[in-house]
Parts: sequence; C-alpha cells; structure tokens
Amino acid sequence: MSMSYGNTTVCVKSAVVVRSRRVPQWRAQSIAQQKSKSNQTAQILLSEFRQASATPLHRLRQVSDDMTAEMHAGLLSEGGSQQLKMLPTYVEHLPTGDEEGLFYAVDLGGTNFRVLRVQLGGKEKRIMNQEYQEVAIPPELMLGTSKELFDFIAKTLADFVATEGEGFDAHSGHIRELGFAFSFPVLQTSVKSGIVIHWTKGFKIDDAVGKDIVAAFEEAIGRKGDHIRVAALVNDTVGTLARGRFWNEDTMLGVILGTGTNACYVEQADAVSKWRDPPPKSGEMIINLEWGNFRSPHLPRTFADEEVDVESVNPGDQWFEKMVGGMYLGEIVRRVLAKIAQEAGLFGGSSSPKLFEPFSLSTPYVSKMHSDESAELTEVAKILEDVFEIQSTTFQERKIVHDVCDILAERGARLAAAGIVGILKKIGRDGSTTNGSQGLKNSNGKTVVAMDGGLYEHYAQFRSYMQAAIEEMLSETAAKSVVLELSKDGSGIGTALLAASHSQYGTVF
Ligand code: ADP
Ligand code: MG
Repeated sequence: MSMSYGNTTVCVKSAVVVRSRRVPQWRAQSIAQQKSKSNQTAQILLSEFRQASATPLHRLRQVSDDMTAEMHAGLLSEGGSQQLKMLPTYVEHLPTGDEEGLFYAVDLGGTNFRVLRVQLGGKEKRIMNQEYQEVAIPPELMLGTSKELFDFIAKTLADFVATEGEGFDAHSGHIRELGFAFSFPVLQTSVKSGIVIHWTKGFKIDDAVGKDIVAAFEEAIGRKGDHIRVAALVNDTVGTLARGRFWNEDTMLGVILGTGTNACYVEQADAVSKWRDPPPKSGEMIINLEWGNFRSPHLPRTFADEEVDVESVNPGDQWFEKMVGGMYLGEIVRRVLAKIAQEAGLFGGSSSPKLFEPFSLSTPYVSKMHSDESAELTEVAKILEDVFEIQSTTFQERKIVHDVCDILAERGARLAAAGIVGILKKIGRDGSTTNGSQGLKNSNGKTVVAMDGGLYEHYAQFRSYMQAAIEEMLSETAAKSVVLELSKDGSGIGTALLAASHSQYGTVF
C-alpha cells in the first residue's frame, strides 16, 4: 500500500513545500510571533487564574475555622447563622443492622431520581436483596408545579412497586413503607414531615415552598391508589450517614458530592441550644448543615464564580456549592476557557459558538479530560472536538485545558476537605483538642466519613486531592483516624434503611 501511494505522497509533500515557500518570510514570521504572543498571554491568564483559585494550607485553615464558627452560630438560635441552617433532622434511630423486612426509598437528588427496594435480613444477613430504577427528571418538571413533579414521581414509584417479584417479601397485613430522600433544604417538623425552605441545583417549584413536602408526595401517591406510606423524610446526607452506620458504627459524618454538595453529622443533643422540644433519648441528634450555602470571605472566588452565580436561578445563594458541586464544575471550566479564548486567542479566538454556550461542558467531561495521561493529550483533543466542535488544537492549548480542569478539581476537593475538617473540629475529632470525642458514644478512635455522590464516586483525582488535603490539615495521628469511605448509593439505600429503623411496625418482626 505504501508503494502505490508513495508517489502521491511525495507529490503532496512537495506541493506543500512549494506553497509554503510562496508565503513571504515576513508574514510567516509574523504569524509565528502572533501565535507565540497569544500563547504567552494565555499562559499569563492561566497563571493569574491559578493564583486566584489557590487553596494553600493557611487558606484552608481559615475556611475550616469559618465553617466551625458558623456551625456554632447556627446551633445557637434559629437563623443564628446567615449561612448554615444547621437543621435538626428528627432522625432518632440510625440503623444498627438488626432491621428486617422489605423497604422502599425514593431518592430525589438533582439530576436523576431513583426508586429502590431492599430486603433486610437482620444482623446476620443484612441486605439480602436490592433493586433500583433510575429515571432522569424531565427538565420542565424542575421549574413546574409541585403536583406535576409528584405525580411523575408517584407514577414511577407505582410502576416500580408493581414489578416487585421474587426475593422480595412484603409482610402480609402491613402497608409498604418508604423512605423519601429529598435533597433540598427542608425545615423538618417530624421524622416524616418537613417544609421546603427553598430550592437549589436548578430546581424552582415556587408553589412547594413553605409547604409540607411529604403531604404533597402522599397526595400524589393517593391519586395512584394508596399502596405505600412515607415512614421517613431524610436529606440525602442523612441517608448516606445511615448507610455508613449500618456497616460501621464509627460513622459520624455523611457528605454528598454530586450535583450539589452538603453534609450532616452526629451532634450531642445538648449542643443544639436552639432545640426547644425534649431532647431525644439517645442524647444525640443528626444535624444537616446545608453547607452548600457556606460563604466564607476566604473562599477563593474568581470572575467565573461571579458569573456562574449571577446567571443562576438562585443568585447570591449556595456559593460553596457553586464552587464545589458537579453541576457547576464543568461550567466554571468552560467560562475560564472562553475567557482565555477571547482575551488570548486560545483555539484561534472565538471560533466555537459551543464554547460560549452556558453549561455546554458537563463535569464528567472534566474528569475525562483531567485523567488523560497520553503524551499528546488525545482524549482532551477528542472531547474539545465532540463538545465544543473545535476541530484542531495545539498541544499547548490542550495542556491549558488540562491545567484548568486540574486547578478547579483541586480547588473544589480541597474546599470540601476543609469543610469536613471544620465539622471534625466541631465534634473534637480533628486532633486539635485533648477531650477527644466530647462525650460522643463511639469513641474507639476512628471517625468514618460516609461519602456519596457522582462527583466523588467517579472522579478519581478529586478523591485523591481531598484525601491529600485532609492529611495536610490534620496531625498525623488524627489523619490516620479519619476515614473517608464511599457509601455507594448511600443516599438511596440509607434512606430505605431509615424507613426500616423508623417503621411504624417496629424494626424486627
Ligand atoms: P444527585 O446529586 O443529583 O443525586 P449523583 O450523586 O448521581 O446525583 O451525582 C450526579 C453528578 O455527579 C452529576 O451531576 C455530575 O456532576 C457528577 N458526575 C457524574 N459522573 C461523573 C464523572 N464521571 N466525573 C465527574 N463527575 C461526575
Ligand atoms: Mg443523590
């Protein structure tokens, strides 16, 4: 083959050579100069952006100290913190592993919602069987009415319950029970009721705000035939904590890094000064921080964060979430690249309309580009072509893209780690105090942080940046005692486990 094409190749080559000889030398030089100048400008912009996003140790410490201070303020009185709601969750019983029976969960996150069932077999058998179904939320329902959203969810749930088959055993005479993971700020009024405070993550369903979310859901279930009851309304962080606790009693925190981000932890009831009701018998309370709305002045905010915030459906809210969460990471990367394209001619200037289209770059692409280890960054080239329709790129350009992904993943991961250290400090588990666990029950030296969410699960560099930052911030001994553990599907399974531990029929039959 090479022989038969040999001549042609030579011909083409010589033609190219001849043509390139015709370009006046002064022009060729000026194009080369221009390219190198634009590359220099791009490098300067990149290095400025790197600086603006930096999270050196002293800054992380300030961020985590601010987190601890806001936590204290939020526990003191209702509205005590402008940032952290510090919501008591009314979850009285974390699962122990003894739970038995068939339980369902609905997990309404941000991007997808899932319905699932688990068959629990007590201490020995634990989770005997599980099944789930994941459904994308039609975008129009995210901005519609409460009735439309819940009719859709109730229908999917009813269809799923109808497929219950072998390996699942509903107790005769009992109505099925369901845990509802609702991952938006809710003021709980009991373990199975709560009022929507506001929406986040691109949802905006105004008529649901100020109303009981469980009532809205149960009405929709009723319209489909009353086949199932909500036994527990939980935040997804609490589901994640519960899933962690089911397997490991040292679990003290639940953290979500998915579309958005949030955390909860086990607090001593007497530390919750704003609590007016009698304290729970366990002496402990699970507090949902709603840390997405954290906004320390030490957060390294950039022009891109400002833009993302201003153009969001909730400007001024959720600053931490907008710097860390998977919904926004790709968009921030895109905005930085668009700026370098405009100001330094990256990708030949503004050649691609897609590069200037909000949310055209999703976070899974960021992690794909970031994990490209090929010498020529071929995966980056492919994604730039697929997503932005940029046909040809230089290695230097691809390297800049790779660097921007790295800078922003590192920043998000280190900020999330600082948040976790802030909570550990609040409960005396960061190694900075000698009083250890401040009287919390399980103090055998380990503190497990149950982690869930697509960003954490699928983005390896994000995970390792987080781990490194935790180790950097804590003393060697404390760092050894803190374990970040993937609580896979924690928000869903953990929520079914909480339905079990709050079952109206008791946990063991
Ligand atoms: P939710 O937060 O909506 O409940 P998930 O926990 O499944 O849902 O998280 C989904 C989010 O995780 C996506 O919006 C995306 O930002 C992020 N994500 C999913 N896959 C990846 C990936 N491969 N790399 C990085 N982020 C990912
Ligand atoms: Mg989720």
